[in-house]
Amino acid sequence: MINIVLFGKPGAGKGTQAEFLKEKYNLVHLSTGDIFRHNIKNGTELGKTAKAIIDRGDLVPDEITTNMLKDAVDQNPNANGFLFDGYPRTIAQAEALDQILADKNSSNTATIALEADDEILVQRLLERGKTSGRADDQDEEKIRNRYQEYNEKTAPLIDYYTAQGKFHAVNGIGSIAEITERLSNVIDNL
Ligand code: AMP
Repeated sequence: MINIVLFGKPGAGKGTQAEFLKEKYNLVHLSTGDIFRHNIKNGTELGKTAKAIIDRGDLVPDEITTNMLKDAVDQNPNANGFLFDGYPRTIAQAEALDQILADKNSSNTATIALEADDEILVQRLLERGKTSGRADDQDEEKIRNRYQEYNEKTAPLIDYYTAQGKFHAVNGIGSIAEITERLSNVIDNL
């Protein structure tokens, strides 16, 4: 089983790259942002709880997010491996993921970060907001809040995974195909 955490700031291109990598490596793609949006669209209790938090650009509490992620993993008992996109985003989530995978006699194979400069990403998200319909992409203040959440709560994961010898980074600026190739080079050499 290979399990990959695709890591990076909002707008770094995790979702775009996940679409290619999941096909290439036959992985189940789990995006916590997509699962939250699916719940919001369907008006579930989880969606109702999460909507205001997500619209502000804050992180949803760990317990809610981890329970949701664990359910999604459990729904795919025969997966060849998972591609985690947007999870974990806190140290508590990273510890929970290690446990979830250990319970399946598996582990996180590698965490791969897509790196890009904040200012480029803010402009990218504002551009995406014109068509994505996402409230959290449309307002610069909310976008800046998402970066603040990233810097405070998510950036410490770089040290967490580096200490495990699992952290890899690739340049996230370039064509979609170029970046897929950079990511593939890392995965093929794991
Ligand atoms: P994304 O589509 O990955 O940018 O996620 C959109 C929003 O969903 C984030 O800004 C958070 O509010 C929420 N979210 C997604 N994944 C997580 C997570 N792992 N932990 C907490 N909140 C999350």
